[in-house]
Amino acid sequence: MTNKSFFIKSYGCQMNEYDSEKITSLLLKDGYSNSDDINKADLIVFNTCNIREKAAQKVYSDIGRVTKKNNNKTIALVGCVAQAENDEIFKKNKDVDIVLGPQSYHLLPKMIDAHNEYQKKQINTDFIINEKFDFIHEEKSPKGVSSYITIQEGCDKFCAFCVVPFTRGPEYSRSVINIVEETKSLIDRGTREIILLGQNVNAYSYSDEENMTYSISKLIDEISKLDNVKRIRYTTSHPNNMDQELMRLHGSNEKLMPFLHLPVQSGSDEILKNMNRKYSIDEYKKIIDGLKTYCPNIEISSDFIIGFPGETKKDFQETLALIDYVQFKQSYSFIYSERPGTKAANLEDNTLLEEKKERLEILQQKLQKIQLEFNTSFCNTNLTNVLIENQSQSNPEYYFGRSTFLQPVYVKAKNLTVGDIVPIGIETCNHKSLYGTIAH
Ligand code: SF4
Repeated sequence: MTNKSFFIKSYGCQMNEYDSEKITSLLLKDGYSNSDDINKADLIVFNTCNIREKAAQKVYSDIGRVTKKNNNKTIALVGCVAQAENDEIFKKNKDVDIVLGPQSYHLLPKMIDAHNEYQKKQINTDFIINEKFDFIHEEKSPKGVSSYITIQEGCDKFCAFCVVPFTRGPEYSRSVINIVEETKSLIDRGTREIILLGQNVNAYSYSDEENMTYSISKLIDEISKLDNVKRIRYTTSHPNNMDQELMRLHGSNEKLMPFLHLPVQSGSDEILKNMNRKYSIDEYKKIIDGLKTYCPNIEISSDFIIGFPGETKKDFQETLALIDYVQFKQSYSFIYSERPGTKAANLEDNTLLEEKKERLEILQQKLQKIQLEFNTSFCNTNLTNVLIENQSQSNPEYYFGRSTFLQPVYVKAKNLTVGDIVPIGIETCNHKSLYGTIAH
């Protein structure tokens, strides 16, 4: 036990945020107190992301800004950059004391002790499957209405542009018992919406001691049996793991939201082949059609990579045509950024950056127009099911909630209960959000 303080900073995705919460709970249990002042904390934990070059570079500039005021300040670099760069990190920045991969963060307290005792740098980048979840302690702090829970990690798909298989290791799934226990704890602390999280979340597959195998669909059915779970979502899915059982579930399980994030990346078969995505556009469209058959009001969001090496004007036009077909209601789109060690890093890329920027602009404007039209279609109607997530601190007459399609909804009302699902009369909107009052 210690009476020292720690500061933790997360970079990147929701899974890193989730991991940071768990690291926080480990350190609190070990006697550390949580500090929001990076310069005063005894221990600084950078939980890093390696998905884009910028995120990885930012860590090093952040470490550079930390002044080591005394020899007792410990700097731990954990997460995906730690996994990818390994002991190279010690050469890049001599102030880093501990390097720890994302599958072994539960070892952090032990490594801090070893570092303090022997005054030696510590490193662990082993892929220790599932062990960290056994170190999750009973947490007591209140949680938000909508909470993530990791159910799956790692990836066997090896898309040509992606570092995840190298940083998070092979696909594995967490035990059902462990997930249900954490879900119950989240509900007890205020959560009403569960978002199942995984790099390939719909590849979830777990066999228990009685050889009962759980797919993500079975797991969702299991979680939806818990009374106070009002909504369930899952992210991020791979098209090749969208089986009929899961598509059907969107039409039959009322707690499973009619909104799915299903990254397509490109609308061109040629580019998908070069990306090693292992599906064609026809196959992707069939999944969307299947989902709509089972759940006619389902809406889709996606990720797009623009300017992947070899992307021609024709390939880009095919991406625009796919957007016309699916009518994505939300999206994340980026210009391709090369990651060292991936297959795509060796591909020839002749497209000028200016051309890529132009394509991104065209794509984003198109997606934004669809989003605005979608949001406008709700104006002067009653949205029957907005989950109220919080009340404004500065103006208690304003609340924030989300529709079933994940649209942010700002509500002017008196005495709403956070965690309730309420009908809202939508008055105005922009492409991002809806605004309204309680419907009568
Ligand atoms: S499916 Fe592709 S993009 Fe997704 S984590 Fe795996 S390798 Fe990366």
